[in-house]
Amino acid sequence: MDTTSLPPENLKPHHNFTVASVNLIASNPPKLVSGPLSAIFGSGSGFPELQFYLEPDGQHFLNFDLRITQIFRLGETQSLCVSEGSDTIKERTYSKGVTIQFKEEEESSSFHGAFEQWKREEVIEGSDLPNGTVSTSKSKFDDKIEASSAKMYFHYYGQLLHQQNMLQDYVRTGSYYAAVIENQVDFAGRVVVDVGAGSGILSLFAAQAGAKHVYAVEASEMADYAQKLIAGNPILGQRITVIKGKVEDVELPEKADILISEPMGTLLVNERMLESYVIARDRFLVPNGKMFPTVGRIHMAPFSDEYLYVEIANKALFWQQQNYYGVDLTALHGTAFQGYFSQPVVDAFDPRLLVAPAISHVINFTTVKEEDLYEIDIPLKFTASVGTRIHGLACWFDVLFNGSAVQRWLTTAPGAPTTHWYQLRCVLSQPIYVMAGQEITGHLHMIAHSAQSYTINLTMSGWLQECYNPNPFIQILENDYLTFCDLCSVAKMWGPGAEQGGILQTSSCRLDLKEPYYRMSQPQAYSVGQDQQPNQLLQSQDLQLASLDEDGSDFIQQPLNDSSAQIH
Ligand code: SAH
Repeated sequence: MDTTSLPPENLKPHHNFTVASVNLIASNPPKLVSGPLSAIFGSGSGFPELQFYLEPDGQHFLNFDLRITQIFRLGETQSLCVSEGSDTIKERTYSKGVTIQFKEEEESSSFHGAFEQWKREEVIEGSDLPNGTVSTSKSKFDDKIEASSAKMYFHYYGQLLHQQNMLQDYVRTGSYYAAVIENQVDFAGRVVVDVGAGSGILSLFAAQAGAKHVYAVEASEMADYAQKLIAGNPILGQRITVIKGKVEDVELPEKADILISEPMGTLLVNERMLESYVIARDRFLVPNGKMFPTVGRIHMAPFSDEYLYVEIANKALFWQQQNYYGVDLTALHGTAFQGYFSQPVVDAFDPRLLVAPAISHVINFTTVKEEDLYEIDIPLKFTASVGTRIHGLACWFDVLFNGSAVQRWLTTAPGAPTTHWYQLRCVLSQPIYVMAGQEITGHLHMIAHSAQSYTINLTMSGWLQECYNPNPFIQILENDYLTFCDLCSVAKMWGPGAEQGGILQTSSCRLDLKEPYYRMSQPQAYSVGQDQQPNQLLQSQDLQLASLDEDGSDFIQQPLNDSSAQIH
């Protein structure tokens, strides 16, 4: 707490309020400062502030940075003023807070009005930093991302072990290296911005390719390590400037000819860093400048994986116990079951589990608008290659470095060398049945949320055609009215819709991309039978699955009568 300085000369108070007393609730013990006091909104320090002065001598004893401050009305004449324990540049551990007592309600009201106005109009000129300028405007990043999420995110990337994990993904880092070095023509003599530089590795690659100057922008504490790494490579390092801050906030002394970045998360879009990449493009890149990577594609295909399905469903079996230390747990079984199916599965799977040719959704980084990434709706349409049970949608992505000399793809596809992204699968709690050649339709709808990820809504539908074999051999299916024929794999129907010659099955699930199930530590069940065809994998149906709780009825599977039964 600064109790010494007088109001600075350059503080031009726009709003000056009289306060009866201030109680410093965050000090131990709380300390009451009685008036008369002045509370003044100003921006003399280069950012919007609320300052408190003792009257009549004008001694400054407390200030709040309005960019990270919230003020609440506790009553007609009392308010609570709290400042976050961290700001965008440097982490602080503790929050600070005071209660403010006004003499009159009118004064309190206009104080709040002034605070709201300052919050709205706080865009003012930036303050200088050694390697650039941090604008004090409330950043686009802070507007849409929860402070707690951002804090954890940048804490994570501030640790060397996580940077090392990415560096040790040789498919990833090697592809970047090759893309840069093969396309020296795009870097030589050019100004480069490294968007989210992390350890600074891509900046060093760009310098190796002859960049005139590289601005390495990194928001986490990793910026300090990048500075060290770059200083340790002085021949390259003399052409690199590390700038600590968010690409949304920092100012650069010149425009860039080319951006380089590794903003891809799981399913390409997780972490919402593509938006920062696009903002960096709009802020720093010359018209028609290059972007490395240039284009990203999300690929999707339906899959059949009975082992995975059973594994997930069985996780909830714990909640089917009726006597857990004398307690019946079944009331929570349905919730637990749905909870497990709301986690997208991250692992490397065998591409033979895919049951239709993949489709893809293209995101062109050079033209996409930031807002286009807030909500992504992908219509799905596949043609099943085999008759099988579909357990959900498998997704992966690739990115293109559209160099002037060489076009290079970095892919995370199943079957390709594994990357630290692996692949992602959305598993339906109610699988759907399809026949070979049949159409599967649906939607993959992704909505960005403020915890730097997406809520995924997946819907998949398929028509089940009728079989005319009067004596179907296998009885396995759900809802009592479906029967599979062992001769043709076509279902026979006894339920509603049968007259129209088919039943429309629709299955939906909602997943949070922020909370995946990392399955990598689990044994890969399907690696045992590598040469199995997808439909043969359905033999695992002899695993017993218990039915969902009474009300949750959207998943009911009966154990097989004949565990040796096989669908073909
Ligand atoms: N370019 C490095 C690191 C990639 S990981 C490499 O390829 O190895 C992404 C990095 O971007 C993280 O270090 C993260 O802290 C940083 N980052 C994410 N969003 C950012 C933003 N808005 N502004 C600046 N850095 C950001």
